[in-house]
Amino acid sequence: MRNILEEFKDLGLTKRVIKAVEKENYKTPTLIQQKLIPKMLDGRDIVGTAQTGTGKTAAFVLPLLHRLEEGKRRAKPRTCTNLIVVPTRELATQIFQNISIYGKFILHSKTVIMGGAKASAQIKALARGLDIVIATPGRLEDHLSTKNIFLNYTSTVILDEADQMMDLGFYPAIRRIMNLLPEGRQTLLLTATMPKQVRDLANEFLINPIDVSIGKQSKPIEKINQKILLADKPMKKKLLVEILNGVFKAIVFTKTKHGADKIVRYLRDNGLESIAIHGNKSQGQRQRSLDMFKKDKINILVATDIAARGIDIDDVSHVVNFDMPNVPESYVHRIGRTARAGNDGVAISLCDNSEMVHLKDIEKLINQKLSKEKVMEDGTRKEVFGDIMDEKEFSLSKKKRNSRSRHKNKSFKEKKFNKSKSEFVKEGTKSNSRINKKKKDKKLKARLQRS
Ligand code: AMP
Repeated sequence: MRNILEEFKDLGLTKRVIKAVEKENYKTPTLIQQKLIPKMLDGRDIVGTAQTGTGKTAAFVLPLLHRLEEGKRRAKPRTCTNLIVVPTRELATQIFQNISIYGKFILHSKTVIMGGAKASAQIKALARGLDIVIATPGRLEDHLSTKNIFLNYTSTVILDEADQMMDLGFYPAIRRIMNLLPEGRQTLLLTATMPKQVRDLANEFLINPIDVSIGKQSKPIEKINQKILLADKPMKKKLLVEILNGVFKAIVFTKTKHGADKIVRYLRDNGLESIAIHGNKSQGQRQRSLDMFKKDKINILVATDIAARGIDIDDVSHVVNFDMPNVPESYVHRIGRTARAGNDGVAISLCDNSEMVHLKDIEKLINQKLSKEKVMEDGTRKEVFGDIMDEKEFSLSKKKRNSRSRHKNKSFKEKKFNKSKSEFVKEGTKSNSRINKKKKDKKLKARLQRS
């Protein structure tokens, strides 16, 4: 039987929105768009999970634009009607560009609020009042503290890459931002990976949410051909050159910024031009690297995890993990830079002995045994079957790693987060109390009144 929501016109969107997606040559809505768009138009709070590259951006942008066209009401000075919060500047810029494409036929105002760019232009834009603000948390908080923007008229807030927005680095800021939003707002959390603890944490931002979930949780898209090469650390660079020779378009992920620069130099010495993107580069350099790669002026991008999430570049044929990610969700996001919008892709990960524990974590998360080859000293490869580590070995190295990271985290928190941590704990205790329940009831009442 034919699904009645298989066409954009069935989703309840205005003609101008549909005209824009048709112009983009989108024939039918993707599954996440089919499911999420009507629920978002209903005004529900939503937790949306779908695999990488399956059209999440349009799923939340199209209803925003639809509402702007229907509503016609414009924002008051220094406020914004819709707020999209994302973890990286590159993703903020990309969403801005996507909104320009999908909103081609709809009058709307928007700006990006992010670090690494001049505040004065942002202040000027905010002063007018905007339909849509796309922001990274740090700079948004700066503008909130200097009263360049108020969030009390914001009716929809979207946290993209929501699980990352709720890790230790971002969570305190996100919590402060969410507390400034009106109680009757609509909240959407979107991601490809949503660990259970994060999902539980997210509940405090949501009222009576629905979960819209497409495909299996944290599962890489099936169109990615994944391979693990088990190799000693000193062999990795040579292996990388071997892999990259003749690839169409590749992103190489490294653990550190310094490591990314070293790879670029090594590749150059071996006749391969590449360009790096990481947090030590200026924002101008970061955007230039990305643009050169996007426009096919260079076919190898060497990146840290700042390029792991959300970045949508056509025709990336290969993702290579030069270092295994130590957070398993990062693996899903990194390799999700290939095989987007229904295309195929290849993901090759180089794993040395010290990284076996990360590999095991990844296999556990994605619930899949990955195909592995051991690279011998003479360069020949041998397929490896069975477990790379027995359970005892795995739990031992996990214990070791946890105690190391506990130690590291402690000193990090002591140095940087002492103040915010205590505030955080105090607030957290409150959130479990009756006060929070009262607050939620009040929010629900406000929501009901609004609808
Ligand atoms: P996203 O997951 O939002 O980054 O989207 C991944 C890619 O899918 C982007 O290149 C979009 O242009 C493309 N895309 C989004 N929606 C559709 C659709 N309905 N039909 C075809 N391509 C789409």
